[in-house]
Formats: sequence, C-alpha cells, structure tokens
Amino acid sequence: MEKAFLVKYGEIGLKGKNRYFFEETLVKRIEEALRKIDGEFTVTRPQGRIFVEGSGFDDDEVIDALSKVFGIIWICPCIMTDDNGFDDLSAQIIEYLKEELGDEPFTFKVEARRARKDYPMNSMEINVELGSRILDAFPNAKVDVHHPKYLVEVEIRERINFHFLKHKGAGGMPVGTSGKAMLLLSGGIDSPVAGYMISRRGVTIDATYFHAPPYTSERAKQKVIDLARILTKYTGPIKLHIVNFTDIQMAIYEKCPHDELTIIMRRYMMTIAEHFADLDKDQALITGESLGQVASQTMQSLYVTDHAATLPVFRPLIGFDKQDIIDISEKIGTFDTSILPYEDCCTIFVAKHPVTKPRLSAIEKSETKLKDVIDGLLKTAYDTTETILVK
Ligand code: ATP
Ligand code: MG
Repeated sequence: MEKAFLVKYGEIGLKGKNRYFFEETLVKRIEEALRKIDGEFTVTRPQGRIFVEGSGFDDDEVIDALSKVFGIIWICPCIMTDDNGFDDLSAQIIEYLKEELGDEPFTFKVEARRARKDYPMNSMEINVELGSRILDAFPNAKVDVHHPKYLVEVEIRERINFHFLKHKGAGGMPVGTSGKAMLLLSGGIDSPVAGYMISRRGVTIDATYFHAPPYTSERAKQKVIDLARILTKYTGPIKLHIVNFTDIQMAIYEKCPHDELTIIMRRYMMTIAEHFADLDKDQALITGESLGQVASQTMQSLYVTDHAATLPVFRPLIGFDKQDIIDISEKIGTFDTSILPYEDCCTIFVAKHPVTKPRLSAIEKSETKLKDVIDGLLKTAYDTTETILVK
C-alpha cells in the first residue's frame, strides 16, 4: 500500500482562469512547505484535486506542514493503489481500516466515484458491495448514511485512491493570489495575528518594525524578528524593514503637546510604513488595532491615524476582544514570544493622559511644530533602515 495525501480546497467562486491560477499557486505553496521537511515529494493536480505522493516522509510531519498552507480545507491521508480487481481493492481497504482503527466501534458510509467508466462496477454497486464487506470484517461497525463517523471515499482513476481520515486545513486562500500588503509589526500580541489573518486571505506580507535604540534593546528587536519568523511558516518569506524611530520620537516629545504624543507618533509610523509599502509595491497597510482597546484606537484616533496614510489600512482585528486575539495567537504559535517582557518604542514616551478624542485639525496644527526638522528626520530614518529577509 502506498501512502499519499489528498488535498481538498475550497472551490466556491473559482471559475475559469481564476481557478487555474488559484490551483497553480496552491501547488507552489504546498511544494515550498514540503521542502522544509524530510522526504521526496511530487505534487500533482488531476481535475479538481491535488495529490501529494512521495517517499521517506513521516505522516505527521506532512500533515503539520500542510496544515499551515492557506487555501487547504482538508488534508486526507490516503492510499494509492493499482487496479488489481475489486477483491484486491476491498481487501486493501479493510486492511487499512484495521490498521488505523483496530477494534474501535464506528459508523461509516462508502462513497465511490468513478472517473474511469471502463471499471466493471458502477459507483452504486461499489458502495453496496464494499459496505457489506466492511460490515463482515468489522462486527462493531454500522452503516450510517446521514452522519457517519467515517466517510470511506474511493476514487477510481487510472490508479485508485481511497481514504477515510481527514485533518482540518488552515482554510483561506493560497498566499500570492491576493496581492501584497505592509504589516506594521510590533512585538505585541495583536499585530502578528493581524498579519496572519490578512495573509490567510491570500496576501503576500512585507513588514515594518519601529524601534528606538538605545531606549529599546537588541532583544526587543530580536523578538520581532522571531515573531516574523513564526509568521513565515504560514506566509512564506517576509521582507522586514527595521526603522530607527528614536530621533523622530524625541522630536515629537520635545516639540508637541504630551497628550498628543502617541497619536502623532502613530501618524508618522503610517507615513514611514507607506514609504516602504510604495517601494515594495504593497497595496495596503495592516495593523493590529482593535476598536477601543487603548486611547490610540478609539474611533476618533483611528480617523486621525488614517489621514496620515493614502493606502487603505486593513485592521482585521477591529471587532475582536483581546481574548479572541489571544486565542488565535496561541493557535498560530506567536503568543509565547509576544508575551516576552521587552520594552516597546511606543511605551517609552507615552503620556499619562493621552487624548482619546483627537481632532484632525488640532493634531495637524501640532505637527507644524516639527516642520523644520521632520523632512530631514524622515530621510535619515529611511536611509538608516535595516532591511532583512526573514525565512
Ligand atoms: P500589538 O499587540 O500588536 O503591539 P497594541 O495593542 O500594543 O498592539 P498599539 O501599541 O497601539 O497596540 O499599536 C497598534 C498597532 O500599531 C499594532 O498592532 C501594530 O500594527 C502597530 N505598531 C505599534 N507599535 C509598533 C512598532 N513598534 N513597530 C511597528 N508597528 C507598530
Ligand atoms: Mg504594541
């Protein structure tokens, strides 16, 4: 028996050329994910299905790798076999069920599909005959056509494949099918989750991180690189721009009202992130903001922040409670890194009582106090930015 994997993906809304592009991209993403684990693999795409075949692999490793590829709905370990007649096929299926289930009582239903019409039995006949052979072989098994615990799917093509186990995939769309966007990535809990969610919709991610040496440490920066690296398991390689934000923060601190520090700082973050977004040909910015979470995330603050950007700002966590965000960060593996207690550039210069209802005109007026220095400071920030490719 030859172990392989059948990959099921969402097809809703995919037609013609789009569908071809979706499938081709998904195959590429699967091949990249498999390159990171042991084994030789071939990925094929016969009509509306993707198969992963190979040798020298560990099943669990393959399932784990595939479970991080966006666009996959189900990962089904399956058996590939040549057509040596129906007796041989049923014997193999029974052997495989025994191997996986032992004496476990179970309900099942057989669903056969014939892609090759010269097979001597039609699908209905296969369902009935195979069902009765399984019942004979497993005294604890019962047929349940409505809610079977296991759906035993058999597909007759040039070769035959069958499966009954399945693991949930990550869903979404393959990365590379929905354009590119720039993630403002901090060391917190929220922004890695925001990046994950947008990437899950098929978007390629670049990232910008603002640090403030010597007020923020090398370890704080390393933490963000580590978070980016965890994200790459899902997103693929991330180009990360590390911006030295110290002088801009100092200038804001010296010249602007202290209750407006955070909002002004956030507007310059947008400006700088957008500069790199333009260079990287990104079509949107992404932040981890959630409505009302802190003073800089009130309706009014988000309005004022948005005016510093011309690109659309995606905030996938806008309606999430903190606990919802934590749940996702635990699931995707960023939580433990996010909670490491290193200082963040935003927390160093924060005011005790930041404005919660800033007015755009007032903020713009305060920013004119920076007019003599800001162009030079921005230029220096761009010129001294360190860009690394995180893989
Ligand atoms: P997070 O947990 O993602 O740090 P937060 O709740 O701490 O978010 P803020 O500090 O207000 O919220 O930041 C809001 C968003 O602004 C972040 O989700 C992130 O997208 C961006 N951001 C904040 N600080 C930085 C930074 N130092 N570098 C890059 N982006 C940042
Ligand atoms: Mg933060």
